[in-house]
This record gives sequence, structure tokens and C-alpha cells, in this order.
Amino acid sequence: MVTTTSSWKTTKSEEIFTAAQKLMPGGVSSPVRAFKSVGGQPIVFDQVKGAYIWDVDGNQYIDYVGTWGPAICGHAHPEVIVALHDALGKGTSFGAPSALENVLAQKVIDAVPSIEMVRFVNSGTEACMGVLRLMRAFTGRDKIIKFEGCYHGHADMFLVKAGSGVATLGLPDSPGVPKSTTRDTLTAPYNDIEAVKALFKDNPDTIAGVILEPVVGNSGFIPPDTGFLEGLREITKEYGALLMFDEVMTGFRIAYGGAQEKFGVTPDLTTLGKVIGGGLPVGAYGGREDIMSMVAPAGPMYQAGTLSGNPLAMTAGIETLKLLEKPGTYEQLDKITKKLTDGLLQVAKETGQTVSTGQISAMFGMFFTGETVHNYEDAKKSDLTKFQSFHRGMLERGIYLAPSQFEAGFTSLAHTEEDIDRTLAAAKEVMSSL
Ligand SMILES: *Cc1c(COP(=O)(O)O)cnc(C)c1O
Repeated sequence: MVTTTSSWKTTKSEEIFTAAQKLMPGGVSSPVRAFKSVGGQPIVFDQVKGAYIWDVDGNQYIDYVGTWGPAICGHAHPEVIVALHDALGKGTSFGAPSALENVLAQKVIDAVPSIEMVRFVNSGTEACMGVLRLMRAFTGRDKIIKFEGCYHGHADMFLVKAGSGVATLGLPDSPGVPKSTTRDTLTAPYNDIEAVKALFKDNPDTIAGVILEPVVGNSGFIPPDTGFLEGLREITKEYGALLMFDEVMTGFRIAYGGAQEKFGVTPDLTTLGKVIGGGLPVGAYGGREDIMSMVAPAGPMYQAGTLSGNPLAMTAGIETLKLLEKPGTYEQLDKITKKLTDGLLQVAKETGQTVSTGQISAMFGMFFTGETVHNYEDAKKSDLTKFQSFHRGMLERGIYLAPSQFEAGFTSLAHTEEDIDRTLAAAKEVMSSL
């Protein structure tokens, strides 16, 4: 049963979150969870299953965050849970080679066009740190180009115009990041190939490569304009630089082989995370064999990890990919998500709201702006006050959306047509009252 506004009580959530604020900065382990940009207190989770969340007060919600991406098969999928139980009996960490790593590595290599060899790490942040060092090691160049509003984890070098988490908190840069570590980070607006060309022209021999979200999720959902990815592929080749797709969010989400499969543009290197861990902490970077052969101990570029390749994490990843590789998966995800975004657009029309929506497979977005969003500057023109009221109204009606206008939304194989209908009915009530 989805709760109604009258029965929605969050007393226990409030108690726990109030206590948490004395124990942990902002009461959370990661900033956006604190609901700063939508106001009000966050709900405290008790349990997740399929497309649903239950909070500590017993309220049920339809979930469109999916633990920020990993839950693409639905939370706590029975096949993943059973496999994890079996793996648990053999121990929680090896710190030595295991056959499970081969299985997941082979699956990743078979799926993702650019990946011939892969290194497992524990988070998307770690994957991006590793791949950047590799890009610099391989080219012998220090500069990189990133795009405004793209997020590549919280390492110093990337905390320049870094999208959602940072945007939400109004910290364009973070204190504590030395100028020397971002000096070599050049930025351009997303979808602006001319700006990239100008940067290469000014720095012809010093740019190691271009790094981007091939479909942006960290300043809301922003797809690449026609020709943008192709343009980046051409210009990086021309200047002897590398192209790196950060598919931590899009990998195994917008297609089994990620954005590179969907758009038919193959980068030199790729980072993964979120979905490949199936809800446990996993990240990975991979790419051309000649480049990956530079990574220690095959080559001189150092990077290591105590828990990397962890047997439980590998197991959750393997089982998740097994579910995703079945025929029809991405058609189902696309269909359900399109029903949602088409429905939201329709509801907005009926209630006189101006929104723009977008969706590819199981990833979607909705901005409170009438214009098509091509980059972070466009995204920032959305009506944030309206988003705030919309978010709260939906939460009260049992719909859990990402607590920021600058985050993409996620669906899963567990979301049903009925879940979408319920979501749209709630959206109609809320949008009528905005
Ligand atoms: C989430 C995300 C990261 C960071 O991953 P963590 O596991 O949170 O460290 C990096 N890049 C992109 C595109 C992401 O969406």
C-alpha cells in the first residue's frame, strides 16, 4: 500500500536523523542523501526489495533512485541474494586471486566494446583516479579535458565544475583542493565540440585525453547531441590523446555494453561502477590491452587495493550481469521508463507545468524548464523552487525521487506498469498544486 499524505508520519526517521547529525557530518555518509537542496529531513531507510523502499516508520515508497544506480534488477533480487549467501560461506575477503574475478572480467570484456583488459577497484571514484593516472602514464602528458557538470568521483583533480553533489551544495570547487592538483584540469561546456577544439589548439602536445559521461547523469539527464561523441573520437585521435568514457552510471544501464554500444563510438578507456557491483562496492577501469598493460604489476603504473576483487562483490556483480544479459531486458527497461517520462510530460501539460523530460533505457530525467537542456548552464535555468515542492509532494505520496534537480532518475526490471500508473497519479496531484 502506498501511503497517502494523511497517514504519512516520519517520527522515527526524524529522531534517527537528528541523532545522526551529532555523530556524522550532516548526519550522512554521502552529501546528497541529506536532502539539503530539497529541504526537509530525509527519510531513514529500513529495508529495500524490488522497486520498493520501506522507511523506519513503516511507510512504503516506489523507488526511482535504486541506490544511485546499482539496483537495476530491483533491490535484493532473489538470485543475487542466494548467490551471496553461498559465497558468504566461503569467507568475506581473500586478498588473493579468485576464479570469480575471471568470471566478472570476462563478462565485462565481452560486453563493453572498448574493454580488452580490466582492473577491479572498490568505487567509481577509485576507478576514475586510476584511469586518469593511466592516461597520463601512457601519453606522458599531464593535462586533461573534462566537461562542466560531469562528475567523476571526489578525487582532487576532478573537483572542478563537477555537477550534482557539488552543484547541490553550491560548492563550485571544494576547499582543501590545492590549485596545483587542478591546474592541469581544463573544462569545456558539454556538447560544445568547438570549445574542445580550441583547447586542443592551445595545448596541442600536453593533453593526455578527454574524459566525460557519454550521457550525463550528474547534472540531471543530458544526452549527447548528434555528432558530439564522434567529434571527440576524431579530435583525440588527431592530437594523439586518449578518449575516456566514464560509464560508472551508464555502463550496463542504458545498454548492456553501455553508451559506447548504444552510440557506436568506442573510446580507448572506460570506467565502470554502480551496476557491476550489483549493490556491493565495485568499480573498474579497462580498455585497450596496450594501455592496460601499463598497470602494475604488468607495467610500471602503480595502483592497488586491499579489498579489490572482493569475492562477495564479484558474486553480486556476476549475478546481476547474468540477469541483465537475458534477451529483452533493455527493451523492457526502455518501455517502462518511456511510459514514465511520456506520462510525466502529459501530466505536466494537463496541469499547466513547463517541463522537459528525457530517457534512454533505464535512465531518465525531468527538468522544470521548457527548453531542451544541452549542458549544465541550461540545466541551471530550471525552476528549483518548483522542483523542491514537487519532490516533497511526491515523497509524501510514497514516491521516492532523487533529492536534487541535478540527478538522473533510475528504473529497474522490478518496476511494473502499475508502479508507473501510481507514480503518474501522484505526479498529477502534486503538479496541480504547484
Ligand atoms: C557515481 C559516479 C562516480 C563515482 O562513483 P562512486 O562509486 O560514488 O565513487 C563517478 N562517475 C560517475 C559518472 C558517477 O555517476
